[in-house]
Amino acid sequence: MQTQRRVFLMTVAATGAAVLASGARAQAKLDDKDPQAVALGYVSDATKADKAKYPKYAAGQACGNCALFQGKPADAAGPCPLFAGKTVAAKGWCSAYAKKA
Ligand code: SF4
Repeated sequence: MQTQRRVFLMTVAATGAAVLASGARAQAKLDDKDPQAVALGYVSDATKADKAKYPKYAAGQACGNCALFQGKPADAAGPCPLFAGKTVAAKGWCSAYAKKA
């Protein structure tokens, strides 16, 4: 009588943990001197907005309460679709400001 042995090989699929280092995804802060920032009158400090050039600026306006700001209300900075790949300061401002509804 023959004993048949079956060996079951269990393959443990080691999933290559695709851990995305959050730091690698951090976006660069938009510089006030960035050509696109200059073109739109962006300043990282809204109180420094060029009021002569942009008379529509009113005190209290800031990226943090702009409809285009993509960060959370408490974030110090967040992305803005106008400046892809960069973050704008919540206290910043640019001439495309639109009050959040
Ligand atoms: Fe800030 Fe709004 Fe201008 Fe974006 S569009 S830079 S959030 S003021």
